[in-house]
Amino acid sequence: MTQTPKSWAMLHTKCPRCRRGDMFSGGLYNFGSNKIYDHCPHCNLHFEIEPGYFYAAMYVSYALNVMEAFGIVAITWAVTQNADSPWLYTGVILLGCLLLSPINFRYSRVLLLYWLSPKINYQPHLDTDDTTPYL
Ligand SMILES: [Zn+2]
Repeated sequence: MTQTPKSWAMLHTKCPRCRRGDMFSGGLYNFGSNKIYDHCPHCNLHFEIEPGYFYAAMYVSYALNVMEAFGIVAITWAVTQNADSPWLYTGVILLGCLLLSPINFRYSRVLLLYWLSPKINYQPHLDTDDTTPYL
């Protein structure tokens, strides 16, 4: 039995316990239905393991935003060959953070569940094509 690689499962926003079920409904930039499921459709893991658990994802999202802002500034600085207008940098940071917000929404929760949730562990016996819900 082959195991689904963790990096692949994180990139495709799969459940951290079975690495098969989707965590989110809709597409990445589908603003109307960009929601996290209550339970994994494959293994029935309840994603919000405690009430208000995803408030902690705000801190992860903040860290992602800071890293993105530094990256955007570095790219802008390199592309414009050391422009010194603060409005240029402010504009590209705001635009970049706005465009990347759906990615932040998803991957802050993915990082929270995969790296910062010791209660959730990968269970290889659930990583099968069997579609019978695990209760
Ligand atoms: Zn699952």
